[in-house]
Amino acid sequence: MANPVENVNVLHATQVVIEEALKRLGFSEEMYELLKEPLRLLTVRIPVRMDDGKVKVFTGYRAQHNDAVGPTKGGVRFHPDVNEDEVKALSMWMSIKCGIVDLPYGGGKGGIICDPRQMSFRELERLSRGYVRAISQLVGPTKDIPAPDVMTNSQIMAWMMDEYSRIREFDAPGFITGKPLVLGGSHGRETATAKGVTIAINKALEKQGIPLEGAKVVIQGFGNAGSYLSKFMHESGAKVVGISDVHGGLYDPDGLDIEYLLDRRDSFGAVTNLFQNRLPGKEILEQECDILVPAAVENQITSENAGRIRAKIIVEAANGPTTLEATKILTERGVFLVPDVLANAGGVVVSYFEWVQNNQGYYWTEDEVHAKLQDVMEMAFENVYNVHITRSVDMRLAAYMIGVRKMAEAARFRGWV
Ligand code: NAD
Repeated sequence: MANPVENVNVLHATQVVIEEALKRLGFSEEMYELLKEPLRLLTVRIPVRMDDGKVKVFTGYRAQHNDAVGPTKGGVRFHPDVNEDEVKALSMWMSIKCGIVDLPYGGGKGGIICDPRQMSFRELERLSRGYVRAISQLVGPTKDIPAPDVMTNSQIMAWMMDEYSRIREFDAPGFITGKPLVLGGSHGRETATAKGVTIAINKALEKQGIPLEGAKVVIQGFGNAGSYLSKFMHESGAKVVGISDVHGGLYDPDGLDIEYLLDRRDSFGAVTNLFQNRLPGKEILEQECDILVPAAVENQITSENAGRIRAKIIVEAANGPTTLEATKILTERGVFLVPDVLANAGGVVVSYFEWVQNNQGYYWTEDEVHAKLQDVMEMAFENVYNVHITRSVDMRLAAYMIGVRKMAEAARFRGWV
């Protein structure tokens, strides 16, 4: 049974940590009033002509948390569980992330309540274009720059960019990131989140004195983030002993056949449905390992299962996978937790690189992108770790203290607070 007082509302959980971070940094209550919600939230209704000729109306959102530092930036999620509070929280996490990796952006996020697994290619195209028409007044290369997130990909970014360019009547590659290479995408963008998580795992292992070679890794989620991560872990000599997706989990203490699983996964990151002997639900999280990487959805590690987690290190590739209550339990148990806002920031870092390349019209090699990403992630990790040690706070609060500072200072210089 989950603790009945445990609050799993992601917006509330984010507000609690932002408030604490601002307090520790000496900012006023007014600053918290400014930053506790997005500056703007647009709700749109998108009519789409479905393949059967009927019109279905979808609800979508775009939240812009804070633009004191620069234009807002963040992905668009297509999922049946998208809701207002989740979009707001996701936009706030983007602000914190951009602060941690020192990008000239504030946070934004969008989402549409839909299930792409039940839609045809053409229906998805009409929905993507309809969303851009609905939010076009609010977004743009110097205003708010979308990107992919759960169940959206480079094809969807291409449709959105094309629709925006048609509306504005000029080519606007800098309107959106995560595009295909031929439309101004960046080398390394598709793998960026997993690369960044890999760098965070390496730093965490180094701090904990555990060698990567032979380290046992469990990954929940086998989509963009989880599948590439399993590949990188496998290639670097770690042993991937567990993976899971929406259907269940696979665990083998001797290591899974990652190449086979990668080959058989579908475009939505499902593969375990091909196996009879799956672990049900969230059981994969409780299996024996050195490193646990939640890379699926929110609120997976709660007060109900935190006591049974056997990993020494948790690196959050997903956004919001661990509740605050669970964070407390894990910290007390000595588990080293690298929070989402640091661990998965590689995606927005390379999105930023893509936008910079679009703006200058000059493109970098994959090696250049990786080298720059490595520098940014390692520096960010060290900064957060230093605050964790010197201020005796957990890694999540340390990350928020760094992430919120630039935005709060920018708001103060602008005279907003
Ligand atoms: P995705 O849609 O590509 O994959 C999601 C994976 O999670 C799939 O394997 C799916 O089967 C699995 N899943 C869904 N619901 C589940 C459940 N209840 N239990 C177990 N598994 C479940 O998504 P993604 O892009 O890999 O994103 C995963 C997480 O990483 C999200 O929280 C996302 O916000 C975060 N993230 C992604 C990026 C990125 O660039 N892709 C960047 C930063 C953060």
